[in-house]
Amino acid sequence: MSRNKILCCANSASKSHILLSMPYLLIDSIKARFYYPNFLLSVFLTFNMHRDFNMKKLFYSEYKLGRRFLGRLAYDKDLISSIENFCRDTSISMATFSVIGAVSSVTIGSYDQKQQVYVTFKEKAPLEIVSCTGNISLKDGCPMAHAHIVLGDEQGKTIGGHLFSETIIFAGEIDIQELTGKPMKRAYDGTTGLMLWKPSI
Ligand code: ZN
Repeated sequence: MSRNKILCCANSASKSHILLSMPYLLIDSIKARFYYPNFLLSVFLTFNMHRDFNMKKLFYSEYKLGRRFLGRLAYDKDLISSIENFCRDTSISMATFSVIGAVSSVTIGSYDQKQQVYVTFKEKAPLEIVSCTGNISLKDGCPMAHAHIVLGDEQGKTIGGHLFSETIIFAGEIDIQELTGKPMKRAYDGTTGLMLWKPSI
């Protein structure tokens, strides 16, 4: 059986810390409204996120290896959607994967940490997938792929970043390793503005 664990790097939550973080909690709860339809739910989830991450706790879960698949990705389809659809079809909720191959166009980006938005750009060109690694976890109950990619052109020059749709497959080989245990879920994190991993609540 897998185990959910919490590793404490600091003392456990103090009442004063919770009081001090109340203004931030309120702001983040309002921001979280973009992700959650219900305000009370957003406050609850944001409070949990604050309690967990502001206390400098590192979450991790232990998993056992499940099924392993090697597959050829379909021509002219979106890379992220292909991976997520495969996971849905095979009931994978937690996994790591890698892809090699080539794309005919790509959308990649990086996270602007000050503005808390992704800055993306699209390149419509034949490029080799030098490396693409990522993981699968659950967001809103569905498998979500988080992947980073490095692409090379005919001169060996590379670009890379966080992988977005649309990225169109020319040819692709995927190696996906299922992990069995309680799946990680993504929830809004007010500190970074990202949907980060959080143990099940
Ligand atoms: Zn990323």
